[in-house]
Amino acid sequence: MKGKIGLEEHFSITDTLGDSQQYFTPDKWPEFKYRLLDIHERRLAEMDENEIEFAVISLNSPAIQAILNPQQAIDMAKRANDFLAEQIAKQPKRFAGFAALPMQNPDAAIAELQRTVKDYGFKGALVNGFTQLDVDDSSVYYDLPQYEPFWAEMEKLDLPFYMHPRSPLPSQRRIYEGHRWLIGAAWGFGVETATHSLRLMGSGLFDKYPKLKIILGHLGEMLPNSIWRTSHRISIAPRGVKSQKPFYYYLQNNFYVTTSGNFHLPTMLAAMLEMGSDRVLFSTDYPFEQMSEASTWFDAAEISDIEREKIGRLNAKKLFKLDFLD
Ligand code: MN
Repeated sequence: MKGKIGLEEHFSITDTLGDSQQYFTPDKWPEFKYRLLDIHERRLAEMDENEIEFAVISLNSPAIQAILNPQQAIDMAKRANDFLAEQIAKQPKRFAGFAALPMQNPDAAIAELQRTVKDYGFKGALVNGFTQLDVDDSSVYYDLPQYEPFWAEMEKLDLPFYMHPRSPLPSQRRIYEGHRWLIGAAWGFGVETATHSLRLMGSGLFDKYPKLKIILGHLGEMLPNSIWRTSHRISIAPRGVKSQKPFYYYLQNNFYVTTSGNFHLPTMLAAMLEMGSDRVLFSTDYPFEQMSEASTWFDAAEISDIEREKIGRLNAKKLFKLDFLD
C-alpha cells in the first residue's frame, strides 16, 4: 500500500544507545546500533522500498524514564528532542517527532512538551512506561495525583500520548526468575504496559479528561483481548476502582493501538472488532522489527481496502493533523 504512515519508529542518541544494547547479541549489535543512530540513509531508503511515506519517530527505551536524577533527565530529554528536531527539519515531509519527556518532574515534563510542540511541531509524546526517581528501585506511575496537571495539558494540546513499554524493575521480576526471555518484548513488556494502562483507566483519569488520547503499540499490549473480562469483574467487585464507566468504554474512546511488532491478522481483527478500525494504526517498531516484514504482512492482510487505507494512513493523518500530506 502506498503512502503508509508509521508511528512507533525509534532512533537513539549516543547517550541512550546503551539502553538498547541489552536486547541484542554482540554479533548483531553493530548493525542495530547503526540503524538506531541513522535517520536519513538506511531508514529513509527502507521507507521508500516499503512505501512508508511518513514516520513519527521517537527515542529508544527506557532512556529518559530510567534516569534517576530529575535534572539529568530534563537535560537529556532536551538534548534528544533538539537532535530530533534538527533531523526532522532536514526532511519535514517524511518525519515528525514524539517528545521524550522528563516525567521525574511533572512541571518540567509539561514545559518540555509545550516547548517541543510550539517550537518544533512535535506530534505528542512517547513515554517509556513508569519513571524511576532518585533511587534504582523506584517506579512512579502516571495515575498518581502529581500527574494531573500534565494530563490536563496533554488534553488541552489535543495531541496523543504514546505509552511505550519498558521492562519491569528487577524487584518486580519474581515470576520471571530463571526465564529471562519472559522479561522483555516476548511477554513482560506487554504485561507492564497493559497494567499501567489499566491503572490510568481505574484512576478516573478519563472521566476527568475525557478527550485524552493514549496510543499503545503491539496491537494494544493484549488489552483488546482481555478488556471485557476486566470490565466484567470490576462491575462485580470494584475493589476501590475510581472510574465511572466500564473499562472497555475507555479503550474504545481514549485509546488507539498500532500494529508495531505484532504482524498477525487475528490479533489485528480482534483490535478492530473491540475498538473499531478508526483506532488501529500501522507501525513497524523499527529498527527492532523490519519494515519489510511489517509492510509485506499489512499490504496483503485480508481486510478491505477501505480499512487498509484507514489503518495504513488516514487514521494517522487525522490523529496527528498531517494536513500537509496529500
Ligand atoms: Mn518500540
